Amino acid sequence: MTASPSEPDVRAEPYDLAVVGAGSAGLSGAVTASELGLSVALLDTSSQTGGQFYRHPAPALGAVRPEALHHDWSAFSDLRRRLTASGTAHLPGHHVWSMVREADGTWTVHAVTGADGSGERPVRIRARALLLATGAYERQLPFPGWTLPGVVGAGGAQAMLKSGLVLPGRRIVVAGSGPLLLAVATSLAAAGARVPAVVEAAGYLRYARSPRALVTNPGKAAEALLHGAGLLRHRVPVRVRSAVTEVHGTDRVEAVTVTRLDNDWRPVPGTGRRITCDALAVGHGLVPQIELATTVGCTTRRLPDGTLGLALDDLQETSEPGLWAAGETGGVGGAELARTEGELAARAIAARLLGRGCGEGRTGELRRRRDRMRAFAEVMAAAHAPGPGWQDWLTDDTDVCRCEEVSAGRVREAVADLGARDARTVKLLTRAGMGWCQGRMCGTAVACLAARDGAAEPPSERRPFAVPVRLSTLAALDGDPAEPADPRPDAS
Ligand SMILES: Cc1cc2nc3c(=O)[nH]c(=O)nc-3n(C[C@H](O)[C@H](O)[C@H](O)COP(=O)(O)OP(=O)(O)OC[C@H]3O[C@@H](n4cnc5c(N)ncnc54)[C@H](O)[C@@H]3O)c2cc1C
Repeated sequence: MTASPSEPDVRAEPYDLAVVGAGSAGLSGAVTASELGLSVALLDTSSQTGGQFYRHPAPALGAVRPEALHHDWSAFSDLRRRLTASGTAHLPGHHVWSMVREADGTWTVHAVTGADGSGERPVRIRARALLLATGAYERQLPFPGWTLPGVVGAGGAQAMLKSGLVLPGRRIVVAGSGPLLLAVATSLAAAGARVPAVVEAAGYLRYARSPRALVTNPGKAAEALLHGAGLLRHRVPVRVRSAVTEVHGTDRVEAVTVTRLDNDWRPVPGTGRRITCDALAVGHGLVPQIELATTVGCTTRRLPDGTLGLALDDLQETSEPGLWAAGETGGVGGAELARTEGELAARAIAARLLGRGCGEGRTGELRRRRDRMRAFAEVMAAAHAPGPGWQDWLTDDTDVCRCEEVSAGRVREAVADLGARDARTVKLLTRAGMGWCQGRMCGTAVACLAARDGAAEPPSERRPFAVPVRLSTLAALDGDPAEPADPRPDAS
């Protein structure tokens, strides 16, 4: 039986486990669960596995050494080999927009394929358990000129290089806050760009306040040394306690102003210095991507950098029974932590569904490793938490919401004159956050401006749609999701 294009594909029997996200956490979870005997579906928006960390060129680009821009590539090769051998149903190009718990306790995962072009098709996957491993996205703080062509996300620049083998410019300033900046600058310089400066708004001394987390994670120090050596080799200076407070140019980036910051990230008057460049790669940390979980009611926790991550128990289960999470969804901590959590969650899920222990010794080892790396992640998040003074970078005509072109002046007016006290009210009064990105880009900035004390992050989102969905897709959902419309296993 063949479904019409608007009818959802539904597999007759539920999988034991559906994993959303094929990055480090999801891959590790899917292959472990499959090897333990579960039937597993692994869905990802991307056409390739690997997520953000192991992003690599499409085969058509003919890269001779796709691993050249990665350390720890062998961990990914191993996961990829195990995925092929495991019998996991890998569903690339599947954008998951909703997850629903059915009356019988199983889950229905709603996705669309072909959403980037013509031929969008709805897909429904049923599963007894879910593992959410959707990673994170970049946090952006606005400043005058940040919407000029040539300004890209720091992770975005890394993604362009890793997947498209292209650079956003020839002379690229890397700025913002967080350890990702060092990785990005090293990669850009190694690929031939001139990097006149890495501009870090925080300092690195805050790490020294937690010597235990440093001593128990020697791998992180080694990684920092590796990046440091790379920057030295390419003569890239690192300016700490500084920020790009303005971008100059008419049609695109021509230069940036780098200004010293005080402890609260307020610009120190008279310290601005102009640096010529043709691109700026900027990011102020990462935000866990958790809307699919918060929409079904999962509890969140405030992380030390002000963002929200999912609150998880000792075995990675969320507050919603049957829904586990791993990797950046619980807080940003890197690819190795994500892999560890993916495996830990898979073992807990298998133990629950199979009703027997699944390697107690290994589970204990994974928990200890997870706890050690999570402790470092918390230190890292605290060290790079934005100070409230970043709002002083803004002029009234700086666009805060770039999708709807809402300026800082209009947001301030909504707060000062119209009484808005939170991002939601500002959104209703100004349209900030109502555009294509649905506030992912401007959410932090609007929430901080609305809170006045500058310390707020947006509250957890409950969105019925995690990605844009056509009305025809919704119209095709009026049947009982537990009733299979098409028994073919979907493997597009
Ligand atoms: C832009 C960016 C660049 C980064 N670059 C680096 C780097 O160079 N070096 C470094 O050390 N760390 C980097 N990081 C951090 C890095 O992502 C993590 O350390 C690591 O990849 C975490 O693994 P994960 O499995 O939790 O998430 P990810 O690797 O991000 O994997 C999440 C996966 O979920 C998929 N997904 C998300 N939403 C949906 C949905 N609705 N439906 C279907 N699939 C979905 C995504 O396509 C992705 O493949 C970067 C992060 C970002 C956001």
